[in-house]
Amino acid sequence: MFRERFEHSQWDADRSRSKLGIMLIDLDRFKIINDTLGHQAGDRLLQGVARMMEDIVYSGSPANGADREGGSTVARLGGDEFIVLLKDVQDVAQMQLVADRLIQGFQKPFVIENLELFTTASIGMSLYPDDGSDLDALYRCADIAMYKAKENGKNRSEIYNGAINSLTFERLSMENELRRALERCEFELHYQPQIELDKNEIYGVEALIRWRSPERGMVSPAEFIPLAEDSGLIIPIGQWVLREACLQKKRWIDLGLRQSVVSVNISASQLHQNNFVDMVKTVLVDTELPPEALCLEITESTAIMNMQDSINKLQQLHDLGVHIAIDDFGIGYSSLSMLKLLPIKNVKIDRSFVQDMVANPDDAAIATAIITLARNLGMIVIAEGVETEAQQKLLMQEQCNCIQGYIYSKPLPPEECLTYMRNYD
Ligand code: C2E
Ligand code: MG
Ligand code: MG
Repeated sequence: MFRERFEHSQWDADRSRSKLGIMLIDLDRFKIINDTLGHQAGDRLLQGVARMMEDIVYSGSPANGADREGGSTVARLGGDEFIVLLKDVQDVAQMQLVADRLIQGFQKPFVIENLELFTTASIGMSLYPDDGSDLDALYRCADIAMYKAKENGKNRSEIYNGAINSLTFERLSMENELRRALERCEFELHYQPQIELDKNEIYGVEALIRWRSPERGMVSPAEFIPLAEDSGLIIPIGQWVLREACLQKKRWIDLGLRQSVVSVNISASQLHQNNFVDMVKTVLVDTELPPEALCLEITESTAIMNMQDSINKLQQLHDLGVHIAIDDFGIGYSSLSMLKLLPIKNVKIDRSFVQDMVANPDDAAIATAIITLARNLGMIVIAEGVETEAQQKLLMQEQCNCIQGYIYSKPLPPEECLTYMRNYD
């Protein structure tokens, strides 16, 4: 209905050369109320908030045409998110006035079950036609402004500032979509088999995240993981990945598949979180996965970022029975002694060396050196990104233990991976 109303109003606005205001209102810390007082109280609070906003928006000013029939509209998008359409707006100042009155409206308590509850809201605003020509564009702008309001301390409003360039815009809107992707279950894990060469058996599978975005289609982790890292979203996302991979692995064990490990990629900010080890322990207990069935992949740069912290944590995890792998080995700046300081079980040769090793003797020399070094230290070497038989042959010759790459399989959705593993067993 909101969309319909918007499109209708858009037509009116074009004819009368007036503007429309879009306001996105998100309650601050609503989850706490839900969690502490229960969903029923949460529902009543949402009703109270809706009524208050209707009173303010429908009371007429500044939009002349504000009434329930043909004018401004208050709607709920879902959760604790509301959206308002303001008609006949002349400029941003007029829209700001409504926002101020709404923020004021939140100053009064909502009485629910004899309790006086206080809540505040963050408001983001955009203007038609200045900030966009359709509702989706305007929504994105208001969304960015809303997160700016949250970032600036909540309980305030922000107007979308058209000055931010398109790159920042793209970044911010993707960040906001990522935030919601977790709640909306848009992430999935695919699994890529790792083959042990001398036994011709499956050594393990690596869990790789996929984002099926309704707006963007499938988005590659190379695109969104760096953004998730910058914004801190990698913490909840990474936690979801770990739990999901452990659950999946446990299901496969229960189905009677031969023991092997599931590998999970861990970002630097995850490893260096204070409670990282406890978080892993909790997930293992909750999912009833034996620690020996889990491998954590850490890149060289993650490990050396805070070497002492890495040593402490990885040692604790190793003592539990969890395997540690060094990912993308060879491209970082690590000293080789790092391999001695950390309780490393697997070394993964970076794809870049594998890809060029057939044509380029330098890359072949590096790959061979990594294999020899790691094997002599008692580690298992996994070559990544193996695509051709020539590469496979060379790696076999150099006594690389395992291979992961398209030559065997791309990362597969869980059901397909199960079929793959069954056929191999
Ligand atoms: P990675 O951990 O080094 O994963 C290996 C990447 O190589 C995967 O890309 C995989 O699909 C790709 N690959 C495997 N075999 C071949 C091959 O034969 N040829 C080619 N060209 N590529 C191959 P993907 O899935 O796009 O992931 C990219 C990176 O994103 C990963 O690199 C990892 O660093 C990161 N990532 C993926 N999932 C997660 C996650 O759950 N958490 C974190 N923190 N990072 C993740
Ligand atoms: Mg990896
Ligand atoms: Mg890798």
